[in-house]
Amino acid sequence: QCLQLCPTAAIHEKEDLEAVWRALADPEKHVVIQTAPSIRGTLGEGFGMPAGSLVTGKMVAALKKLGFAKVFDDCFGADIVCIEEGAELIHRLENGGPLPQFTSCCPGWLRFALLFYPELIPHISSVKSPQQVFGALLKTYYAKQSGIDPKKIFSVSVMPCVAKKWERQRKIGTHDSGYQDVDVVLTTRELIQMLRSAGINLAELPDEEFDNPMGYASGAGIVFGSGGGVLEGVMRTVYEKMTGKKLQTPAFKEVRTLEKIREAEIDIGGRLLKCATVRTTGETRRLIDKLKRGEAHYDFVEVMACPGGCVGGGGQPVYPGLDQWDQQLKQRYKRADALFEQDNLKKYRTAHDNPWIKKLYEEFLGEPHGEMSKKLIHTSYTEIPLYNLEGTASSVDQG
Ligand code: SF4
Repeated sequence: QCLQLCPTAAIHEKEDLEAVWRALADPEKHVVIQTAPSIRGTLGEGFGMPAGSLVTGKMVAALKKLGFAKVFDDCFGADIVCIEEGAELIHRLENGGPLPQFTSCCPGWLRFALLFYPELIPHISSVKSPQQVFGALLKTYYAKQSGIDPKKIFSVSVMPCVAKKWERQRKIGTHDSGYQDVDVVLTTRELIQMLRSAGINLAELPDEEFDNPMGYASGAGIVFGSGGGVLEGVMRTVYEKMTGKKLQTPAFKEVRTLEKIREAEIDIGGRLLKCATVRTTGETRRLIDKLKRGEAHYDFVEVMACPGGCVGGGGQPVYPGLDQWDQQLKQRYKRADALFEQDNLKKYRTAHDNPWIKKLYEEFLGEPHGEMSKKLIHTSYTEIPLYNLEGTASSVDQG
């Protein structure tokens, strides 16, 4: 019952290592893995490296050593989210709302909203999270491209997050590929445990590259792991699509923050979009209450449940010694800096310019927000009824 009551699904912490070891040992299974944006900035900490060490290539090498057939980048899924959420926002702006559009990629926030604010469902983006988008494409697009039977694909993800374990099993109605999008979710801590038990020291490995066709991401997908990153990634696409102009500097630094809330007005060719990025459920409640009282207006709101966003996620390495908020924040900023460092180095910093994403739309998905996208990339939501805390539990929908 506790699992059902936890408002953000943070209590879904459970070990899933055994299932991954079993799959890796099964010759009938094609075991692939996707790594979330923030992991490249935190995984090194499990191997004595300082916070903020960017270990993308070493992480890929370590996962290949563990025996994964393909190592893919979940930031590719985040690129798709930028394009689809951007198209959805433009549609809402041009067709009278409803606004604000809330992001949907944080399952902690999603579960909280479905439990306590179901009236906001029409405002929540219908786009799945990068993890679920990626999983759906693995068993359809990737299976087709590689000629592998989708039933043989075993899809693992490494996430900063325990709530992603809840998201993986969320019922999604008719919006599905016909397969389980993601078979197992590991947290960063579980992956550290797995590598250590295999005797793999990530710090000593040479860099290797992600596999394609789902291993190349733009900078927009990479910054998803930091506070304000989803808002920034989506706005990079919205700006260029709405104005028809290229951004001189593809960045909106004014929304980058790990503090609990930041508001910003983004000038889209003369139209000012009122945006906010908010973290923690307490701060989110305050923002929603202000909206309801008519004391605030936004066009787009990014919500991440964890302090600092995914770089401060519940599945990341923890330091019992760091009990002061300012010390923790300092460490999370270092992790976030690693992601922006990689964004700066990227040739393509807007999702819609990523050549592998262009290929995906040309060969498989068609148009953003089109028929195939709606089937695989989008989802729908239903209220999760609250329990009667005196003991008689009502039936619980998984949202
Ligand atoms: Fe998960 Fe926290 Fe990131 Fe939300 S903010 S996706 S709960 S790690």
